[in-house]
Amino acid sequence: GAKGNGRNGYCLFDQQMAEEAREQASLHQELHTALEEEQFELYFQPLIHLRTGMVCQLEALLRWNNPRLGLVAPDRFIPLAEKTGLIRAIGHWVRDAAMRQYQHIEALGCAVPIAVNLSSAELYDDHLAERIIEQQRSHDMPPQALVVEVTESLLIDNKQDTQAFLQQLQQAGICIAIDDFGTGYSSLSYLAAFPVQKLKIDRSFVQQLQQDARKQALVSTMIDLGHALDMEVTAEGIETEQEKQLLLAQGCDIIQGYLISHPLPAAAIEEYLLQIS
Ligand code: C2E
Ligand code: MG
Ligand code: MG
Ligand code: MG
Repeated sequence: GAKGNGRNGYCLFDQQMAEEAREQASLHQELHTALEEEQFELYFQPLIHLRTGMVCQLEALLRWNNPRLGLVAPDRFIPLAEKTGLIRAIGHWVRDAAMRQYQHIEALGCAVPIAVNLSSAELYDDHLAERIIEQQRSHDMPPQALVVEVTESLLIDNKQDTQAFLQQLQQAGICIAIDDFGTGYSSLSYLAAFPVQKLKIDRSFVQQLQQDARKQALVSTMIDLGHALDMEVTAEGIETEQEKQLLLAQGCDIIQGYLISHPLPAAAIEEYLLQIS
């Protein structure tokens, strides 16, 4: 019975909860000053065209240099930033830094489009589309050089606003990609309803691809679905040559993953781009 679980069980549980709450509170405090103290940094991961092997895009991935914890991955602080509303200022900073990076690689003669991730919590800003377009123009960035990655959940919640938001971006010439495709438990109807040019198949479908015929069937179907809707299809999280060969055989357009390169700091990605060009 409940008593049999013992007081110690509950105590341990309470302690862990309290510790977790304290840690979240510290992170929250620290996150508040992270922007002004310039603790954020963008890493960049290349995406390559499978057929040609050419780098065709970079994805900007946010890192937090926390003085107490070192480099913190986004999965650890983005949810907190979303809950507290800080995500809006952070998102603005991310786009600004990504656009400045675009100017750098353009000056080096190795410009490729740059993708930024957008959190659905950023959509609480009614003027987000205008702000993004304004940002892109003030950086002299061609609109087609900017890709905005959104998740399926963003397309499901808030249908009306999302539709208007995505249409504004599309009319300005900015590309939209669906990130983590296949993990959103959503109906497929939104794929036809929204102006989306790119589809990124989630890493979970690629893991153990060679050993799993059912996964291969799923991935192949997602690639065909994307192509039927005139979308460019990327597979995320490619770690082995076998995965790459399977995706090539299935007609996938673009791959991203540790096999090609880990996400790299700005200086390293510039060196990478110069070496291959
Ligand atoms: P995502 O947009 O799906 O980004 C891909 C994630 O997969 C990145 O994790 C990347 O480092 C990782 N990855 C790439 N190739 C491989 C691989 O071959 N194997 C494995 N195991 N992982 C691989 P990261 O950088 O930790 O970012 C995690 C998530 O955090 C991102 O997923 C994205 O949803 C979110 N995120 C990152 N930066 C931002 C940002 O600036 N704003 C917002 N709102 N979210 C961001
Ligand atoms: Mg992404
Ligand atoms: Mg993804
Ligand atoms: Mg993700």
